[in-house]
Amino acid sequence: MPASFAAPRTLPDLLTELDGEATILAGGMTIMPLLNRGIGRADKIVSLSGIPALRGIACSGNSVRFGAMATHSEIASDPIVAEHVPILATAAAGIGDVQVRNRGTIGGVAAYGNAGADYVTALTALGARVVVVSRRGSREVAFDRFVLGLRRTDLARDEVIVAVVVPSTSGGRTAFERYFRVQGAAPTITAAAVLKPDHGRLAVGGATPTPVIVELGREFDLAATLDAVDEACADRPFGDAHNPAPYRRAMARHFATRVLQRAQEEQSC
Ligand SMILES: Cc1cc2nc3c(=O)[nH]c(=O)nc-3n(C[C@H](O)[C@H](O)[C@H](O)COP(=O)(O)OP(=O)(O)OC[C@H]3O[C@@H](n4cnc5c(N)ncnc54)[C@H](O)[C@@H]3O)c2cc1C
Repeated sequence: MPASFAAPRTLPDLLTELDGEATILAGGMTIMPLLNRGIGRADKIVSLSGIPALRGIACSGNSVRFGAMATHSEIASDPIVAEHVPILATAAAGIGDVQVRNRGTIGGVAAYGNAGADYVTALTALGARVVVVSRRGSREVAFDRFVLGLRRTDLARDEVIVAVVVPSTSGGRTAFERYFRVQGAAPTITAAAVLKPDHGRLAVGGATPTPVIVELGREFDLAATLDAVDEACADRPFGDAHNPAPYRRAMARHFATRVLQRAQEEQSC
């Protein structure tokens, strides 16, 4: 049992609670199973669920702004997301089961920084930015600099993610793929390609501690791009008993091929 539980209603009240010791609770889909299994401890829990300012999905210039508490279900079904960043809707729709999608949030996934997670790969390819606030002020960090390693992010103990800002892919071509071995479980490999008229980006998650990124020019050579993915996987291998590193590396190459080919075949949206 935590020694204390707080559920602030406003951002200023939340910041007062974030004293460097508090554990933030969003949808609870990661943190609660960990605490139930005795992994880590939380003497003070601060829930984000009562703060309206952390909710909502809205257009902001040429980007889409996701409140940190936007759930996977909301993202999967939102018309703004479908129009401006359809691969994020695809990624959201494939996460876990209905319960996980109804409770889990984009802020929770970003804060946890699990390299294989669907959004982590999609947000990396999309060039997203994370908006972080604390009593010391606010800052915006490029998502590919925010995730530092396996479940390690550039987030201090007194900071909270308030939003994730994603550039629109309108006029570009995109594709997202996930590979999983057990329905409802986290994916083994995720891959996302964003091809804009003047540049593009490929991200592949699950075979390295942070997603592999390959920047693409207006034109790109498929074989050279896949070799770059392969080399990155060899340089920073990641694997476990179920999916060893050589297997993940092979799957990374395979799913990189698939997203690049699918994105190239797409009509620009
Ligand atoms: C059965 C199951 C299946 C799953 N399948 C998938 C899958 O297929 N693909 C996938 O990508 N993920 C999967 N997940 C993971 C799921 O997407 C995440 O657990 C969940 O979305 C994390 O968000 P949350 O809101 O539940 O975060 P929480 O569990 O509440 O928090 C996660 C961590 O982030 C911190 N945190 C949360 N919000 C913030 C914030 N705004 N600012 C700062 N810190 C914060 C918390 O303190 C905690 O350390 C699965 C989870 C389960 C339980």
